[in-house]
Amino acid sequence: MLDELDAVLDKVCGEAGSLSDGESIERLHHALARLEAAATVASAAFEAGGEWQAGRARSAAGWIWIRCNIPKSVASRRVALGRDLRHLPAAEKAWLAGEINGAHVAALARVRTKITADAMERDEELLVGKARDLRIDTFFRVVGYWSQHADPDGAEDKAAKQLDSRRFHLSKGFEGMWLGDLLLDPVGGDIVNTELDRIVDELFDAEWEEARGRVGDAVGVDDLRRTPPQRRADAVIEMAVRSSTAPADGRRPEPLFTVLVGYETFAGPICELADGTVVSPGTVAGWLDQAWIERVVFDTPSRVIDVGVTRRLFTGAMRRAIQVRDRECFEELCDVAASRCEIDHIEPWAAGGRTTQGNGRAACGFHNRRRNRPPDPPLRR
Ligand SMILES: [Zn+2]
Repeated sequence: MLDELDAVLDKVCGEAGSLSDGESIERLHHALARLEAAATVASAAFEAGGEWQAGRARSAAGWIWIRCNIPKSVASRRVALGRDLRHLPAAEKAWLAGEINGAHVAALARVRTKITADAMERDEELLVGKARDLRIDTFFRVVGYWSQHADPDGAEDKAAKQLDSRRFHLSKGFEGMWLGDLLLDPVGGDIVNTELDRIVDELFDAEWEEARGRVGDAVGVDDLRRTPPQRRADAVIEMAVRSSTAPADGRRPEPLFTVLVGYETFAGPICELADGTVVSPGTVAGWLDQAWIERVVFDTPSRVIDVGVTRRLFTGAMRRAIQVRDRECFEELCDVAASRCEIDHIEPWAAGGRTTQGNGRAACGFHNRRRNRPPDPPLRR
């Protein structure tokens, strides 16, 4: 059987460069997921079978590490995941069929603990269905809520551990260069990242204008003076400069948390950061005295409040309602957070489109500018 597979792979790999259309890319990833599933299931069976002991290896993972010449951590994770699959029959089946991939399965295995085992047995089919249907980052969020719901104390313990593990090192290295490394809890990291993104956007806009002045309207990213990593580094420095010059009564960051009401899924009420990161109720409680917390009331998952006003621009509560509802740019292949998007009219204002929640959508600058170009061919699915 594996000889036949080798023969097919010889052909595929011989022509890999020509499999460059979208459908082939999807099918290759599908095949990759199935092969990884097979290797994982087989590795766990290999461990149980004990053949590895004859080679005097200390463990099945140790045998695979040396003989297959992959990083030790990858070998260990593969054997452990294969073991976990025995308790996740629906996930195993879907992975072997290529309907979901290793990242989905690893996420499910990670939240299956002694405490959540019964709930997982009950909800596994449901979660595998979510893995199949949802975009992967949305699925991770669903798994986060599920885990919080199945083990509320565990979620609070984990949040406390994450906070404890925060650290920041900055030290002077060779020839006066500075080296840094940081680990931040979800809330602290979000505060830093939001401000950093804001400054990066400012620097980008200024650079774009400068480049346009130099090369004219045909300006592209290659004409910019800085690379993205350089721009982020400069944004950190700018943040420090602004901190030293900030007025004592400057504005605190806001709003940090969004509590969605009436949007409950099977996992119960929802607390998250503006970018959709799931946080535990205890984490929110710890910030009550200093953070803005916004409460958004839904009547259906796609409708926040109906504001039937005829206005040219989306502003205020309606703008925020659309941001919270859409979370991201409307384009399927884009994940720019709605908080960094413009809100535009689906049916253009000039064509009689109304400024209502139903006719608004979040669009990043890139996709907002592209809307006047002819549409791309439709995506499969
Ligand atoms: Zn976009």
